[in-house]
Amino acid sequence: MTAAPMTGRPGDTRIAVVGGSIAGLTAAGLLRDAGYEVDVYERSPGPLSGLGTGIVVQPELVRFLLERTGTTLDDISVPSSSVKYVNAASGAMIGQTDVGWRFTSYNALYHRLLGHFGRERYHFSCNLERVVDDGDQVELFFSSGEVARADLVVLADGGASAGRRQLTGVTPEYAGYVTWRGVAELDALSSRTLDFFDDAFSYGLLEDGHLIAYPIPVVDAEGRVRRGLNYQWYRNVAAGPELDALMTDRNGVRRPTSVHHHDLHPDVLAGFEESARHRLDDMFAELLLAAREPFVTVIADAEVPRMRIGRCLLIGDAAITPRPHAAAGGAKACADAWALVDALTGAGDDLDGALSRWETHQLAVGRAYLRKVRRMAEVLQHGGPFPPGDPAYRFGLPAVTTV
Ligand SMILES: Cc1cc2nc3c(=O)[nH]c(=O)nc-3n(C[C@H](O)[C@H](O)[C@H](O)COP(=O)(O)OP(=O)(O)OC[C@H]3O[C@@H](n4cnc5c(N)ncnc54)[C@H](O)[C@@H]3O)c2cc1C
Repeated sequence: MTAAPMTGRPGDTRIAVVGGSIAGLTAAGLLRDAGYEVDVYERSPGPLSGLGTGIVVQPELVRFLLERTGTTLDDISVPSSSVKYVNAASGAMIGQTDVGWRFTSYNALYHRLLGHFGRERYHFSCNLERVVDDGDQVELFFSSGEVARADLVVLADGGASAGRRQLTGVTPEYAGYVTWRGVAELDALSSRTLDFFDDAFSYGLLEDGHLIAYPIPVVDAEGRVRRGLNYQWYRNVAAGPELDALMTDRNGVRRPTSVHHHDLHPDVLAGFEESARHRLDDMFAELLLAAREPFVTVIADAEVPRMRIGRCLLIGDAAITPRPHAAAGGAKACADAWALVDALTGAGDDLDGALSRWETHQLAVGRAYLRKVRRMAEVLQHGGPFPPGDPAYRFGLPAVTTV
C-alpha cells in the first residue's frame, strides 16, 4: 500500500502534541488558532507545578500570551531596574549595569497557557512510551495501554524526551554541575537583604560556581499572585559517587534529574545549609536559608541531529536542551513552535521544503544558543572573568541567518 501524501493543511491534518508544558501548550494554541484539530498528551496526572521557579521574560516566551490571550506583562511578571555583580563569598560589589528585565515564573505562564487551551483536549496521565510512524499515520503508545493516532506529532516532551531517545538515540549529557533552587517570602527577609535583591537580577560569583537571585510572581493554588525572591546556586559536583550521593533520596532511590524538597536525604539538606552558612556572605546566606523547600536539579544538555523524523517534529527542550545561563530556553521552545506553525500554514504545495527550512533554521538557532550557554558556563562555574554588562553574555537568543 502506498502512503498517503501528507499535505499539512488544517482540513486534513490531525495533530498530536506530546508534553503539555511551555513548548507544547504554545504549539497547541497556535495550531488550534490556525484551524488544526489538536490534542495534547501530558504524562503528569494533574496540572504541573513548576515548583514556583523563576523565568526571565524574553519576547518569544510571552508572545503567544500577549498576542492571543489578552494577557498583559503586568499580569504575569514583575519588573527590575538593574543587574548586579557581587562576590558571593565576601559580599563585595563587583559592578552594576542599569538594565531592566522582567521576571515571571513557571506557574504564572503555565496556568495562563493551560487556562487558554482548556482541558477538553488536554489529556493528563498520558506517558508516551513509543511512537510508530507507518508513513501514513503515527501511533502513540502510552504506558496506560492507551493508543492515540495522528497525522503529525509534535514532540514537546522536554529535556528527557522519550520521543527523542527513541527516534534519534540522543540522551542528555551531564554538564558537571547541579542547581539548588528555592523561593523566599519577602517578609522572611531583613530589610537590608530585601532592598538589595528586590529590584535587580543579581549574580553572586564564586571561584567554583555561581548564584543568581531575582524577584518573581508567586502563584498560589487559588491563582492569587504575590511577590517572592527566587534564587539558584549552581554548584560543581563530580559525576560518580559524589553526584550519586547528592541525588539519592531519603528512601535510597537514585533520582535521574531532580530531588524535590520532601524527598531530599536529611544529610544532603544539612550539607547544603551548612555550605550556605559557611561559604556565602550574609545576604546570600540569609536568602538561601529563608527560602521555602529548596530542591536540587542536575544540569544537562542535549542536541539532536534532526528535528523532523518523518511525521514527528521535535521542539523545545525535546530537540535541543540548553543550560539555563542566558535565560532563553523557554523562549527557544516558543520560537520553535511559532516557526513550525508558520512553516505548516505557509507550505502551499511544498510541505517537505517548508519543514526542511524550518528544521535548518531552528537547528541553527538552538545550536548557536547552546554554544553561547556552554561558553557562559565555562566562566561562571570556574571563576573566569564575567565582566559586568559584557554583551557576549547578555540574556536572549542569538540572531541567526540561514538563507
Ligand atoms: C534551572 C532552570 C532555569 C531556567 N530559566 C529559564 C529562564 O529564565 N528563561 C527561559 O526562557 N528558560 C529558562 N529555562 C528553560 C526552560 O524552563 C525550558 O527551556 C522550558 O521549560 C522548555 O519547555 P519545554 O516545553 O520544551 O519542556 P518542559 O518544560 O520540560 O516540558 C516537558 C513536558 O513534557 C512532559 N513529558 C515528559 N515526558 C513525557 C512523556 N514521556 N509523555 C508525555 N509527556 C511527557 C513533562 O511532564 C512536561 O510537561 C530554565 C531551565 C532550568 C532547568
